[in-house]
Amino acid sequence: MGAHIEAEDAGDDGAGRAARRDEAVRAAVEQGLLGPGSPIVGLLDVTGIRESAAELRAAFAAVVAPGTPVLHAFAVKATPLVPVLRLLREEGVGAEVASPGELALARAAGMPVETTVLDSPAKTPAELREALSLGIAVNADNPQELDRIDTLMRSGAGRSPLGIRVNPQVGGGSIEALSTATATSKFGVALRDEGAREWVVQAYLDRPWLTRLHAHTGSQGIPLSLLARGVAETYALAEEINRRAGRRQVDTLDIGGGLPVNFASDATTPTYAQYARMLAREVPGLFDGRYGLVTEFGRSLLAKHGTVVARVEYAKTSGGRAVAVTHAGVQVAARTVYAPGSWPLRIAAYDEKGRPKEGPVVVQDVAGPACFAGDLLAEGRSMPLLEQGDYAAALDTGAYYFAHHYGYNSLVRPGVYGFGPGGRFAVVRRAQTVEEVVAESGGAEVDALTRAGWGVP
Ligand SMILES: *Cc1c(COP(=O)(O)O)cnc(C)c1O
Repeated sequence: MGAHIEAEDAGDDGAGRAARRDEAVRAAVEQGLLGPGSPIVGLLDVTGIRESAAELRAAFAAVVAPGTPVLHAFAVKATPLVPVLRLLREEGVGAEVASPGELALARAAGMPVETTVLDSPAKTPAELREALSLGIAVNADNPQELDRIDTLMRSGAGRSPLGIRVNPQVGGGSIEALSTATATSKFGVALRDEGAREWVVQAYLDRPWLTRLHAHTGSQGIPLSLLARGVAETYALAEEINRRAGRRQVDTLDIGGGLPVNFASDATTPTYAQYARMLAREVPGLFDGRYGLVTEFGRSLLAKHGTVVARVEYAKTSGGRAVAVTHAGVQVAARTVYAPGSWPLRIAAYDEKGRPKEGPVVVQDVAGPACFAGDLLAEGRSMPLLEQGDYAAALDTGAYYFAHHYGYNSLVRPGVYGFGPGGRFAVVRRAQTVEEVVAESGGAEVDALTRAGWGVP
């Protein structure tokens, strides 16, 4: 029995996913999606995305009381691509949105309002009015936002499920920029600040329509134990509100996302099942059926299913160091290039036919196309020597990477393709054209600054 559970806990070693990736890279080269005229693409493993969505659903279904409503709302910012949202919708996953653009993407994907949650820290009155009139769930970030919601509620605007986002202030993880539950985080109502907890409780007692409570304790770099503590603090607050209200006013807990992703190998670890079981252990009561649940996972759902593959345009040596100059750099991997210590990526080498490259390991740099010296995907990496015409693949880039284009050097957004069994591809996002770059760079306003009398109405 114990051995059986351990085997289950070991999760997925990712061998199947790695084999699918190798097949997709070879097929992309064979079919000409990748080549001299198309030197960079993003690839998404459709089978893998479906598997992760199923694992997420199963993990929570295994720990909640029968009949408990559970909404898994994918954090759209992780992979803001409409066909991906549609795929997730088909897999029973909703959307967590944090801007008018993300809400528009979710709606374009046909995401129902009942499975959409709005969380941005800077919602305007117009955004709040739209969300409330649509019936989309909203978590108020702060007292000023709650004032605005009060005004809308007085005018009879809403039928949305509404809650407050709290910051349990349980501390940060290894990546400061992604630690949302530090003492001074910009998100939510800081629960341990003087008077804040009492203010939150009173806010609920004064507003019978506040029925949800939200916390998102952090993203990559947060240990599981800290995530669980954030959830435990949120649960305890809901219990306190309901005790003081003398009824089950808070009926849904939104526990956020943030499950860390393993960027060091193909293995999926930790798994959703491990996290769900840990929550069941650490927060008894959370899953006993008294509370509906919302989760907001982003990176953990998509990261391991994306690969950016780039052609090696030139291979050179510099100061004795081998350097592969590829077409993937800061424009598709901004975090890795600017903060390589926090965001190392594995790089896989493929030959000119898209086959995994063998051969002696050489210490080398894998560089991008942008014009600054730090534009490196990997520095001093030991791997088979990349040569001109080969391909370098940056792995685990399905979330927060190639879908987050950074327009440095006016480099075009690469095309993104989904792949399935048998070398089948579908366009998820066309590659941007140079004409589109010109148009988006004021191409239609060419005379704006030089026209006679400009600026004078
Ligand atoms: C970014 C974010 C998420 C998703 O975080 P991941 O680390 O990608 O799982 C969830 N909820 C909120 C409020 C967020 O800001």
